[in-house]
Amino acid sequence: MGTFISTYIVIVAISGVLSALLALFAYFKDTDFSGIKAFIVSSCASAIYTFAFAFELSSGSLSQISLWTKVEYIGMPFIAPSSLLMVLHFVGMDRLITKSRLIWLYSIPCMTTALVWTNDYHHLFYRSIYLRTDSPAPLADIVMGPAYIVHGSFTFGCLLAGTVVMLYQWNRMKQVYRRQLVTLLLGLLLPTLGAFLYLIGLSPYNMDPVPIIMSITSTLYIWAILSRGMLTAAPIARGSLFESMRDGVLVMDRSDRLIDYNPAAAGMIRGLDASYIGHPLIRLFLTAGKDAVAYVMEADPLVQEERELEWEKGDDICYYEIRSSPVRKRGGQIAGRMIMLIDVTERKRMQDKLRQLATTDSLTGICNRLHFMERSARELERRDTEGGNLSLALFDVDHFKSINDRYGHSCGDMALRHITEVCQGLLRQGDIFGRYGGEEFVLCLPDTPLEEAAKLADVLRAAVEVEGLRLPQGWISVTVSFGVVFAEPGKPLEELLKEADHALYASKRSGRNTVHLAVEHGLVRFP
Ligand code: GH3
Ligand code: MG
Ligand code: MG
Repeated sequence: MGTFISTYIVIVAISGVLSALLALFAYFKDTDFSGIKAFIVSSCASAIYTFAFAFELSSGSLSQISLWTKVEYIGMPFIAPSSLLMVLHFVGMDRLITKSRLIWLYSIPCMTTALVWTNDYHHLFYRSIYLRTDSPAPLADIVMGPAYIVHGSFTFGCLLAGTVVMLYQWNRMKQVYRRQLVTLLLGLLLPTLGAFLYLIGLSPYNMDPVPIIMSITSTLYIWAILSRGMLTAAPIARGSLFESMRDGVLVMDRSDRLIDYNPAAAGMIRGLDASYIGHPLIRLFLTAGKDAVAYVMEADPLVQEERELEWEKGDDICYYEIRSSPVRKRGGQIAGRMIMLIDVTERKRMQDKLRQLATTDSLTGICNRLHFMERSARELERRDTEGGNLSLALFDVDHFKSINDRYGHSCGDMALRHITEVCQGLLRQGDIFGRYGGEEFVLCLPDTPLEEAAKLADVLRAAVEVEGLRLPQGWISVTVSFGVVFAEPGKPLEELLKEADHALYASKRSGRNTVHLAVEHGLVRFP
């Protein structure tokens, strides 16, 4: 029996060493696992408990035994609550852990420790402690007081809660994390089972098996840390994922009423709060303007769809990409849908800016050559299929080089902007106005016969001449020369522009500030 008890003491001491090692491991581990503090507390508490238990076992008198019992109770009451906390962190339910709850949770073990140390004065924890007569070594037995029952129930309650939480999360946990979950579960369940057997008097020699079991669970933990990546990372619960997403999410039921939303959605939809739960989607989208309302009216909730909406947010205009996808139950029946709102305002503004840069001339703000050619080609095509008239005109500033030479390049720029403004004020809706290059401009005039185009060109020419240009140095006269051509069906744009250019040069040759038309039998001056 003497060897039995010394083997027992050695195993308990090893268990203490393992717990202390675990605490050290956890303390120095570089980890993202938020429950690491709870794990350290639990391991330290286990180490204190098991070491003191080893000393208790090797004690020879009742006074020594009761001293080491007190030391045990510095650690033991904290094991179960810290284990529960660690489990809550692991399964991602740490949102439940608030500061006040933490204080409550640890107040009972603190009280237990205090009551054990002061037991001689009140006997609330142990009614009495006496030496056992049936054990192979001097062991104490006790008569429980009311505080002992509170402590015992609390400890079992915590362990039970931890177990239930883990079993509840089993299905939600990804496969890769299940091994860790099993390790945690065993670490919690085995000591609980041992303590239970001890309590109902079924443990061998009626000795407390928990410290022995803890040497097994500590080894299991160490193995899991070293080979399974335990404590390195913990799964992020889906619930907190939903809460922390940057994009808004709305969850709708089968009749398209709001069931749930995340904080990002509340930030994106004005006024969205819990009072909207149970209300139809249109109520949420009503304040966001006609685009959003049209979306609710048109989109089929059961069809996966993506759409970009202009979204009025007070005085601001935002752009949201709306992704709607049906949500199905396990059996395949529709349960509702999920709507994701992604703020694409920045992207949209950037795209608009790029489009603007790619299509307009930076000096005058009208179409650049490439964009003019594209739009005009489309107009020509439309005219070729639908019929009707279309004319083109080119014009060039007269003696522009001398404006540059005399007044400077920036005054030349001013002249170009001024001419653009004068013409823009006289052009009709649908006319396409572009800068063809340098000081040359081009017009595409849909639904315009040659005669009308010639008149318009002459109006523009006269307006530029009459307006003149106000420079810092004073008023100067500016004139332009025109070449106009009627777009015969089937003729390509480039050829038409070449003909207009011939007419323009005829205007230059004939003294400038005039309009010439390119017609079938040659070039004629207008009027
Ligand atoms: P013409 O009456 O025969 O058209 O004579 P012009 O002087 O207008 O023609 P020319 O082709 O000799 O000169 C055009 C000048 O336009 C040359 C060039 O430096 C100037 N130019 C081209 N683009 C710009 C511009 O963006 N800004 C300024 N200020 N000048 C420009
Ligand atoms: Mg010129
Ligand atoms: Mg020129």
